[in-house]
Amino acid sequence: MQCTYCKKEIAEGASKCPECSEWIKFKLRPTLLRTVVEILIPVLSLTIAYGEFTRAKKAQQHADTAMEETRQTMAILEEMPRDNVLNSAKTQVDPQIFSGLQKRDFVEVDKQLQARLKENPRDEQAKKGLIYSRVLRRGQ
Ligand SMILES: [Zn+2]
Repeated sequence: MQCTYCKKEIAEGASKCPECSEWIKFKLRPTLLRTVVEILIPVLSLTIAYGEFTRAKKAQQHADTAMEETRQTMAILEEMPRDNVLNSAKTQVDPQIFSGLQKRDFVEVDKQLQARLKENPRDEQAKKGLIYSRVLRRGQ
């Protein structure tokens, strides 16, 4: 083979040229390259698929936990006298939501809070407000 720099003939597979002392660029032979690709691509696809699977599983677990917490909170609130639920709401949600709850304007409160959550799914006040609205609505 030839040195990639000085073009002198050197030993096959040499990594350094004895003539000009340059390091020879490592070239993958086509068959070796094909083998590497054939092995790597399925392995990579599996790794990616597994990553997607664990991510989806974790997201589902988070959703399940949040759902269970909501269910428990609602169960506790439903056992409480209505006035206590309202007092609790007063400390947990913003005045605008609270005022709607106080007025028993549950349909309107629900509508507003759903709109807020659509805008920002992480709006914790809106999530809490919805819980209070539903509990109070059931108890009326
Ligand atoms: Zn050379």
